[in-house]
Amino acid sequence: MARVSARRRPERERVLLPVRQNCPGCGGHMQLRYENRRHLVMLPGAVRLRLKIRRCEHAGCPRFHVPYRPEAECALALPQQEFGLDVIALVGVLRHREHGSVPEIHAALRGRGVEIAERSVTNLLDRYDELLATNLTDTRRLRRVLKGQRGVILALDGLQPDVGHEVLWVVRDCLSGEVLLARSLLSATAEDLAPLLREVAGAVGVPVLGVVSDGQTSIRRAVERALPGVPHQLCQFHFLREAAHPIFEADRHAKVRLKAEVRGVRPIERALEGRDDPVAEVARGYCAAVRSAITDDGRPPLAASGLRLKARLEAVADSLDRVAEKGAARRRSRGSAS
Ligand SMILES: [Zn+2]
Repeated sequence: MARVSARRRPERERVLLPVRQNCPGCGGHMQLRYENRRHLVMLPGAVRLRLKIRRCEHAGCPRFHVPYRPEAECALALPQQEFGLDVIALVGVLRHREHGSVPEIHAALRGRGVEIAERSVTNLLDRYDELLATNLTDTRRLRRVLKGQRGVILALDGLQPDVGHEVLWVVRDCLSGEVLLARSLLSATAEDLAPLLREVAGAVGVPVLGVVSDGQTSIRRAVERALPGVPHQLCQFHFLREAAHPIFEADRHAKVRLKAEVRGVRPIERALEGRDDPVAEVARGYCAAVRSAITDDGRPPLAASGLRLKARLEAVADSLDRVAEKGAARRRSRGSAS
């Protein structure tokens, strides 16, 4: 069945920056030069990517004006793909582990809120199979990928669509953007990952200039073991996402509970309808303040919207306390005067 409705505009936006600033060709600084935009459908929802692109501007450099894209981009999606790698990984698991048919996989994805047409599922299955068939012994392909490059910068990422499922490990070259190797593994220890890196380093035929990853301990150990002395850079985006995940979850939970506590705003607003006396005006102002606090969504991981909501609701409550105190004081002074 084809998709009937137009795809909704993604509500989430992510800005990705290349971690590396020095040109792999000449070592000089690469300026941020322009921005590419990309819409992706991922398991947590649709996302709008704003990709900051660097470029070397030193005349004579072998990478003069060759774009350098954010390393994290290829951890999210393959080139020219509308769906995230996490969706592709899940499609692969549903097919090869759970032996789901295309309609079953389609239903499972729709059930998780992924807007996808059935024929796209077939397409993603092909992408998954192609990905795992990526072969390091295909020298023609490697030569094409590494044409004119003096080295590779490896990015290693593990995608696990669900806890307990196998992890789809993808090794890419950040300079060409090409996938060099992909494997589906049940575990992800340094012992499992080091051979993947060794295999890649042995096949590319050019030096490994560096590795970029989210800095998981197992990946760090694997890099130390397989590629001793090769600089390993943590991708801030991944690192932050990993580090912020538990906080983000706790914050989201807190926000839900806070919202539940201020559900009483609506009845108050209704009771005030048709009144335009000063008291009603003030009460309406407070209701508006509470409403605006509820809809003030921060952008994780840098802004904790639950904490912000708490601060704003506390400001409203403090203000109400002050009003109540003033009212009480006035009543007291009126009482003593009479
Ligand atoms: Zn350069």
